[in-house]
Amino acid sequence: MKRVTLQPQSAPAGGWKLGLDLGSTAAKAVLLNAEGTICDMLLAPSGLSPAAAAARLTETLFSKHGIEQAATVATGYGRALAMEKERTITEISCHAKGVKKLHPDVKTVLDIGGQDAKAIRVGADGVVEDFAMNDRCAAGTGCFLEVAARKFDIAIHELSDFCGNNPRQTDSEDQFEISSTCVVFAESELIGLTAKGTSPIESLKAVHRAIARRVSLLLQQIKACPPLYFTGGVAQNITLAKAIEYACGIPVTPARHPQFAGALGAALFA
Ligand code: ADP
Repeated sequence: MKRVTLQPQSAPAGGWKLGLDLGSTAAKAVLLNAEGTICDMLLAPSGLSPAAAAARLTETLFSKHGIEQAATVATGYGRALAMEKERTITEISCHAKGVKKLHPDVKTVLDIGGQDAKAIRVGADGVVEDFAMNDRCAAGTGCFLEVAARKFDIAIHELSDFCGNNPRQTDSEDQFEISSTCVVFAESELIGLTAKGTSPIESLKAVHRAIARRVSLLLQQIKACPPLYFTGGVAQNITLAKAIEYACGIPVTPARHPQFAGALGAALFA
């Protein structure tokens, strides 16, 4: 598959800017015009090649808007495979920059993607003051939600509607929590709960609480303070936002366009 055509560093004629976030699960693109207004946002599965995903997104946006070139910056786990080093910026900086643009009062960003989670403390100027990251353990990421949702045959985008706004256990006769810190063992715990007759909704709420406990450790590490904005694909899950709120004691607000915050930051850097 074709590599992304590299464009000059400075903004070209037309002033288009393109931000690419090449995540482990999804590749995202945000296109800004010369005034810095968002003109388009596009998402595609990452597939096996971040370079191919980046090329597909770029070509689609260019042909849709009749663009020949755009100043482009890439972020995300696959950025080094798609773009030369000097045209790449870390997800931490890009998420801080993107959320600062969408929510100027931001002090903390929590980003949860398919395979990692990051807590970022953002200064008044949008610069990163501190961050903590979990990219070693899937139990605190979207991956665990996907595994659990699949077990009960629920689509990931319907999981939050299924579980509702209250992640606390509603059946109080048999109090339980999922305690394993590894998805493989946590999945066995889930099977054990089902075997004991625990309802799917209570089991899935317990999964949300388990992720929230892990994520709140990251927030503690950076001494998170409000306003806290939640980004990444997983931020569309309101049950999890509520569970994190209970676990860390800070209101958790899903950011606008949560899955595109990193790509927006990259476009702003471009
Ligand atoms: P990455 O950058 O690591 O690829 P993203 O921030 O793009 O991750 O988020 C991908 C994750 O978001 C996946 O785990 C996916 O299951 C989850 N996701 C996508 N849409 C939703 C939704 N509507 N509700 C909950 N989770 C979602």
